[in-house]
Amino acid sequence: MPESKSERMCIGCLNKSHPNALIRLVFVDSPPYVAPDLVPRGTREFGGRGAWVHPRWQCVRKVSEKGQLARSLRQDVRIDGKWLAQAIQKRLEKRAEGLLLAARRKKALTIGIEVTQLNLQEGRVALVAIPSGVTQRSAKLLEWALHHNQNVLILPFTPSTDLGKLLSHPEVKAVGILDAQIASELKESVQRWFDLAEAE
Ligand SMILES: [Zn+2]
Repeated sequence: MPESKSERMCIGCLNKSHPNALIRLVFVDSPPYVAPDLVPRGTREFGGRGAWVHPRWQCVRKVSEKGQLARSLRQDVRIDGKWLAQAIQKRLEKRAEGLLLAARRKKALTIGIEVTQLNLQEGRVALVAIPSGVTQRSAKLLEWALHHNQNVLILPFTPSTDLGKLLSHPEVKAVGILDAQIASELKESVQRWFDLAEAE
């Protein structure tokens, strides 16, 4: 397998994966001395030695166990898994916000239940996303979309405080992403966000 050469070991579960399935951690000069390197694929925000971890809570919570992190970074660092999970989640939220704005710039974003449903029915929507803490009407749209085998996503954002502010609307109950590439990146970021949420 030619791919195995580029595989990296997750310092949480010690299994190997392709770098695309992992998050790179790097040593930085200021406390807590470790930062997630979460730039788009194929580029790197930080050079130098890295440690790799699966973006899942089961792996992230164990990063400092057994000294794997310190060994990989060749630095005497220990970080709290919970802190790291939250730090990565924050970056993923930023990326999700950036993708929503990118979709809007490309005029590939529908905002609101009616217009999203209309575009869905016309087969133009690559992904339907609704905020968490959904209203009944948002849930109905989601149900409809699922029933018609559409791609759906729950966002870790609130309708007004998060999404409303971001998109300058009083309340955003649903959005439709019309661009397939943005849709798949958004879905991946949000799925990782949920995978990092502490399972308790
Ligand atoms: Zn792992």
